[in-house]
Amino acid sequence: MLGLMQDVPLTVDRILDHAAAWHGTRELVSRDAEGRVTRSSYAAVHADAKRVSNALSDAGIRLGDRVATLAWNSARHLAAWYGACGMGAVLHTLNPRLYLEQIAYIANHAGDRLLIADPACADLVAQLLPQVPSIERVIFFCDRASLPETPYPATAFDDWIAGYPAEYRWGGFDERTACGLCYTSGTTGNPKGVLYSHRSNSIHALMTLQRDALGLCARDSVLLVVPMYHANAWGVVYSAPAVGAKLVMPGQRMDGESIYNLIEQEGVTYSAAVPTVWQMLLQHMRDGGHRFSTLERVTIGGSACPESIIRAFRDDYGVDVIQGWGMTETSPLATVSVPNASVAAKPADEQIAYKLKQGRLLCGLDLKLVDDEGRRLPHDGKTPGRLMIRGETIASAYFGGEAGDVLDAEGFFDTGDVSTLDAEGYMQITDRAKDVVKSGGEWISSIEIENIATGHPAVALAAVVGVAHPKWDERPILLCQLKPGASADAEGLKAYLTDRIARWWMPDDVLFVDEIPLGPTGKIDKRAIRAGLTGYRLPFEAAR
Ligand code: ADP
Repeated sequence: MLGLMQDVPLTVDRILDHAAAWHGTRELVSRDAEGRVTRSSYAAVHADAKRVSNALSDAGIRLGDRVATLAWNSARHLAAWYGACGMGAVLHTLNPRLYLEQIAYIANHAGDRLLIADPACADLVAQLLPQVPSIERVIFFCDRASLPETPYPATAFDDWIAGYPAEYRWGGFDERTACGLCYTSGTTGNPKGVLYSHRSNSIHALMTLQRDALGLCARDSVLLVVPMYHANAWGVVYSAPAVGAKLVMPGQRMDGESIYNLIEQEGVTYSAAVPTVWQMLLQHMRDGGHRFSTLERVTIGGSACPESIIRAFRDDYGVDVIQGWGMTETSPLATVSVPNASVAAKPADEQIAYKLKQGRLLCGLDLKLVDDEGRRLPHDGKTPGRLMIRGETIASAYFGGEAGDVLDAEGFFDTGDVSTLDAEGYMQITDRAKDVVKSGGEWISSIEIENIATGHPAVALAAVVGVAHPKWDERPILLCQLKPGASADAEGLKAYLTDRIARWWMPDDVLFVDEIPLGPTGKIDKRAIRAGLTGYRLPFEAAR
């Protein structure tokens, strides 16, 4: 017997419809390419999104066609996003921080027909166009006055949509229709496309809105630092309008001062970003002796959050840090480090150990740990294993069938992460499978050593990689980027690590570098580090 409830397809356009109807005057604040701060509202973005749908339709874009954006966060970007999804096109976010060759590969693979870019990307687009013949037209997110001069035809976004009506009938298709395409940064092999559906993104938005997840609400002012081209800005592109939260978008300026000023000027209560952004902000706060007047909580994800950041936010500024874990393939949010009842009952200092974990699973998802043969491992908080996940917001395959069948016999997706799961249900990432340091048959967690090393007062960033060793297979070495003006030596760092890590985890060498390379999403780029270490010899070899 079927239930007798209304059967309304879960399509994402309904989220912006809701925001416009019930939170229409709620503000959207963006810093544009010229650095100006502009103000809009959900009602205005909704109207523009409808105009975009008309303009796309006129340009011959149909159900399933890919419309690409190459841009930072802005109200115009949001209008293009919903305009494309609402009419059944697939919004494909390209990451402007990738290399030209990668962007060209991705745009070709996706078969993008239309490209809407930030004016700051004009030169990049000029190099891209000859390599991506499928792109028929280029639009820039700007008004006519800011339209860049280009050797190819281009239209200003405002002009492009100006003549069209703010009415368009959105939806009317299956909720499993594709609505978004985002490529993983391809730290192994070529980038692969994750194809979100209206249904998966709608469900993900609802899942992340729980109080035990991102917990956004109508009273929040949300600073969206995490870029829209990075897995739906962790779903906030959907969850903020769903509850009518104010959205503040920093454009391209991610330095500590710009971020701090926006937080204060716009009464920001919540923000989400990768650890490196928070590190810059905290440095700016310390240097200038600043305080937050409205910020309550921040979500940190994308890479492991060092304890020093959690403590600084909590103890120095009264801001709660919530660590989240996920990946492009998981929409992205899957676990969140919010305390359960028994953790909340522990003394504040003991709770930190749980905040350092990647957290508890959102309802609707399922996790397991397996060994290299696919056998289940215990959830004892100690045994590391390959982390496998399944659920309605998890990829079942890659766009174009890349990498073939990606699910195991039970329908679990291999995250490529190595982690533990404890009896409280907390998951803790110990490594990316490919970054694990294998020493004497045992796994050393590079992430744990990095977290501890970053707690040293002189260290700005730390990275641990494995180097081949004739007896132990691999031994860890530690690379440190010091804070400006700070000094430290290898012995001092090792002394700091002693008692904080197991003896056999002690890095064989400590190297001080001017800059630890970061990838396009702000994560430490271990592939680049390894490439830079060609010819490196461990101290015992060098001494021979
Ligand atoms: P990739 O970096 O592999 O291209 P994503 O940008 O989707 O792809 O990043 C997903 C990966 O980022 C995860 O598999 C995990 O290794 C890492 N990650 C995400 N959040 C966290 C976190 N809170 N702690 C540690 N690692 C994290």
